[in-house]
Amino acid sequence: MDGLDAAPVPEGERRRVAVIGAGLVGLASALWLARLGHHVTVVDRAPPEPGGSYRQACSYGNACTVAPHGVVPVATPGIAWRVPGMVLNPAGPLAIVWRYLPHLAPWLRAFLAASRPAEVERIAGTLAGLLRHADAAYRPLVEEAGARHLERHAGCLYLYRSDAAFAAAEADNRLRERHGVALERLDAVAIRALEPRLAPLYRRGVLYPDAYTFDSPQVLAVAFAAAIRKRGGAIVRAEVRDLRCEGEGVRVGTDGTALRAERLVIAAGAHSRALVRQLGEDVLLDTERGYHVLFPEAGHLLGRPVCYPEHGFYMTPMADGLRAAGTVELGGLAVPARPVRTRMIRQTVAELLPQAGAPGAEWMGFRPSMPDSLPVVARSARHPAVTYAFGHGHLGLTLAGITGRLVADLVSERPPVLPLATLRHDRFDAWGGKPGPG
Ligand SMILES: Cc1cc2nc3c(=O)[nH]c(=O)nc-3n(C[C@H](O)[C@H](O)[C@H](O)COP(=O)(O)OP(=O)(O)OC[C@H]3O[C@@H](n4cnc5c(N)ncnc54)[C@H](O)[C@@H]3O)c2cc1C
Repeated sequence: MDGLDAAPVPEGERRRVAVIGAGLVGLASALWLARLGHHVTVVDRAPPEPGGSYRQACSYGNACTVAPHGVVPVATPGIAWRVPGMVLNPAGPLAIVWRYLPHLAPWLRAFLAASRPAEVERIAGTLAGLLRHADAAYRPLVEEAGARHLERHAGCLYLYRSDAAFAAAEADNRLRERHGVALERLDAVAIRALEPRLAPLYRRGVLYPDAYTFDSPQVLAVAFAAAIRKRGGAIVRAEVRDLRCEGEGVRVGTDGTALRAERLVIAAGAHSRALVRQLGEDVLLDTERGYHVLFPEAGHLLGRPVCYPEHGFYMTPMADGLRAAGTVELGGLAVPARPVRTRMIRQTVAELLPQAGAPGAEWMGFRPSMPDSLPVVARSARHPAVTYAFGHGHLGLTLAGITGRLVADLVSERPPVLPLATLRHDRFDAWGGKPGPG
C-alpha cells in the first residue's frame, strides 16, 4: 500500500467536516476523511449523480488520464516570447482572451517568473513528489468505490511530426527522466504498431507506460459519492453563498439551509478564490480554460491517449467514444466559450485520425490554475479550522487521491505524508510577486 493507507483517528478527534465542491478533489478529500472516521458533508451546486448533469465541474470534461509524466510545468523557458502569439491567435493551443489581459496581469507575471530554469527545476521536483504517490493514494479509494473496472492501463503516447520537434521536446523528457518517470522513445514503425489507425503524420514519439485512464471521470465521481454516502457522509445539492468562521467552527451559508461544521475544506476548483476571499484571505488562483469535442463513433480507433503536444490536446478512448480534450485559454470565468477553439480541435482530429467520423458534444471547462502549476494544499493562515485544496491545473484527476490523503492529514492534525511548504495559498502576493520574509 506504499504506506499511504491510514488508521482512523480516535473517537474523540472525529470532526464534522464540510467540504465545498464535489469535483474529484473534493470527493477524494471527503472519502479519505470518511475513511479516517470524520463525519463529512459535501456541498455542491450540482453534485455527481447517475444520469444527472455534472458538466459544470472541470472533473467532468478532462482527458481522463492519470499522468505520472506530468512533472513539467506549463510555463517553461521561452514561454514569454509566445505571449504575443497567444493574444493574436485565438485558435492556438495556448491562447489569451485579450480583453481579459488586464485582470490576468498579476497571474501572468507570476506565470512568466515560474518559467525560469531554476523555478522549473524546483516546481518539477515538487510535482514529482506528488505524482510518485498519486496512484498509491487513489488505490484505496478506487477499490472502496468499486471502480476498478473503469481503469484502462495502456500508457499514453506523445507524437512529433518532425525530428526537430522531437529534439525540442528532449529537454522535457530529460527532466522527466531525472525525476524517475518511465518513458520509451519510439520511431515511426513502433508508433504504427501501437496505433495503426492514426494517419502517419509522425516521425518520432514517446510512450509513458505508467499512465492510465478512467473510462469516465463522471462515473468515477458518482462511485466516490456513493462510497462517501455508504460511510454515513452526506452529499448536499446547494450553492454556497457565504462563509463565516464562528468560534472554533464555520458557518456555511447556502441558497438553502445553512450548515455548521467544526472543520471546512474548500475544494471548489476554479471558483475557490471567491470563497477564500470571504474568509479575509486571498490566493492568486485563475483558470486555464480547456475544451473537448467528443467523437462518439471513434472510441475503438485508438488504444490509449494520444497527444501531439504542438496541438495541445489528448485524444482519449473512453466510455462515450473518443474525447479530444485539452488546449489552454486564459480568459477567466465569465467570458463565454469561443467556438474557434473547438473548431480547431475538430479540424485537427479529422487530419490526424481520418476515420474519426462526425463530431458530437462539445464542452468548455475551467481548470483551477495557480501560476506555477502547483496546487494549493494548505491550512488557512487566519482560520485553523479551514483547509484549502484547489489549483490542480492540468493534473486534478491525477492528483485527487494524494490531495485527499493530505487534506485528511491536515484536518486530522497529523503530520502530512508529504511536505506541504511549497503548496501554501499565500506563496504569491496580489501583484504576482513572492511575499518577502517576515
Ligand atoms: C480539457 C481538460 C483536460 C484535462 N485533462 C486532464 C487529465 O487528463 N488528467 C488530469 O489529471 N487532469 C486533467 N485536467 C484537469 C482536471 O480536470 C482538473 O484539475 C480537476 O478536474 C479539478 O478538480 P476540482 O475538484 O478541483 O474542480 P472541479 O472538478 O471543477 O470541481 C469543483 C466543484 O465545486 C463546485 N462549486 C464551486 N463553487 C461552488 C459554490 N459556491 N457552491 C457549491 N459548489 C461549488 C462546482 O460545482 C464543482 O462541482 C483537464 C482539464 C481540462 C479542462
